[in-house]
Amino acid sequence: MIEGARIDHAGHDNDPAAHLHDIIQYWETVAAVRSFVDKNRDTAMIGTSDHETGGLALGTEHDYLWYPKYLKPVKKSSEVICRELGKVAANERDNFVRNTVIPSYLGVSNVTDADVSSVLRAAESSSTKCKLAVGLIVSRLAHISWSTDGHSAVDVGLYAHGRGTEKLRGSYENTQVGEFLRDYLQVDLAPVTKRLSNQLTEQPGFKWAHEPPSIITRRDADKHSTGSAAAAAYHAQLDSYHPLHYKGGHSHSH
Ligand SMILES: [Zn+2]
Repeated sequence: MIEGARIDHAGHDNDPAAHLHDIIQYWETVAAVRSFVDKNRDTAMIGTSDHETGGLALGTEHDYLWYPKYLKPVKKSSEVICRELGKVAANERDNFVRNTVIPSYLGVSNVTDADVSSVLRAAESSSTKCKLAVGLIVSRLAHISWSTDGHSAVDVGLYAHGRGTEKLRGSYENTQVGEFLRDYLQVDLAPVTKRLSNQLTEQPGFKWAHEPPSIITRRDADKHSTGSAAAAAYHAQLDSYHPLHYKGGHSHSH
């Protein structure tokens, strides 16, 4: 399996240039795998994603146009830029952002005080905010917008090539891709599925594999007014089951 995980990371950062570069790398990888499949007729490849990240939209100024030319001169990801900025002495940061980051790293010729101060303010707050502020400068010029710094709910592409993959044309649930692979590889997943579902799996900070949140249901919570003990218990329980997403904290890595 080959994972193009940095596409997701750039989506989280709302960093359009890093996003594009990692997509291009993914295309190049797909081309290499595809030529392998063409030479080895008993093989197949499937390309898909478990979700979209960032809620990317193009042509956001009501003109139905976007401007990829603004992505081309970008030299560094906002992740790298913000890491570098973090190492610059506080009294040198304005100069660094104004004379290096925006003109050289982002290739933006028109450096504005507003952009400089938005990056500086964001960097003071957190590296996450810094990355979003840097990405926004390029996104705005390119007429790209993002609806989230997390994962979105849009359907994702499913691409397949090679022997037997014509079965995968159309719209599928992600579990059906797994079923296709099971049948394709002629493996018996039932014993391992049974073993896994009888076993408690440990994933740090992600506990819903242990006990689904059924002790107090949403209906129980809704029967009571907000602020009731039942509602508070329900939400505390959700917090404990979804610590990464429900609280809005963001510390996952894929
Ligand atoms: Zn992610």
